[in-house]
Amino acid sequence: MAKMLNNTLKTIEQYKSRNPHYEELLQILEEILILREEYSKRMTDGVFIVDESHVHQKLAGGLPLVDFSRNNFDLTEPKKYFFDLMNIARKRSPEETKTIEDGLISGELDYEAMVRESFTLRTDNDIPEEDEKLFDLLSLFIEESLRPALEWLVSNYHEVIKSSQWAEGYCPVCGKEPKIGELREEEGFRYLFCNQCGCEWDYLRIKCPFCGNDDQQTLAYFTIEDEEKYRVDVCNKCKRYIKTVDFRKANEEANLDVEDIATLHLDMLANEEGYE
Ligand SMILES: [Zn+2]
Ligand SMILES: [Zn+2]
Repeated sequence: MAKMLNNTLKTIEQYKSRNPHYEELLQILEEILILREEYSKRMTDGVFIVDESHVHQKLAGGLPLVDFSRNNFDLTEPKKYFFDLMNIARKRSPEETKTIEDGLISGELDYEAMVRESFTLRTDNDIPEEDEKLFDLLSLFIEESLRPALEWLVSNYHEVIKSSQWAEGYCPVCGKEPKIGELREEEGFRYLFCNQCGCEWDYLRIKCPFCGNDDQQTLAYFTIEDEEKYRVDVCNKCKRYIKTVDFRKANEEANLDVEDIATLHLDMLANEEGYE
């Protein structure tokens, strides 16, 4: 794990110097990943309890393992992590951070409610003009605060998910939609990635994860010059898009948390083209 983190941090450093435009965001990610590693190490079970007797049935029926809209989980540990993450925000915008923390302490802001909302309300996909604004730190940290506990589930149920032949376009663990995916193996199988819990699952390559459209005539992709490792798959039926990385030629391993940030310009292009 530590070795993986080191490799990822090296990649981040390279990307920062290559694209100073993303330096700040990548720096935030770097700090998050270091903190995440600490929390992940301490992670045992217990935050998201999955009813073992229903796992196979749920997955076979297209239901994710964790249902955030119904269950009341004990979020004490994720909340601690959330407060630690706020230190990353404090360095950048001390006043805003204090307002949020004061709100949480006074009860004006409710961490648990924000978590639930992040699963029930559809995320706002309107991309503002400056990339920096893309990152609403608060919602980023709400999402991140659950990651170690969800990653724990991902690694524990990895085999079960694999054998369940999950065929949905949303995450089998938490139900969120992917923003990025990856082509792997010689055949170029596609794996979708969930930013919320780090889960990756295979999904048909010629099929839209969002509406299930598999008509080649209405599916397309675009790439940009000098970036043949990346492409954007679009669906002209539902007008949505997903970014795809293909590192097979480069013989590198992609960290999709990092790639998602390093490809924000592709999100903007997709938006300009009218895809959400
Ligand atoms: Zn997920
Ligand atoms: Zn579609």
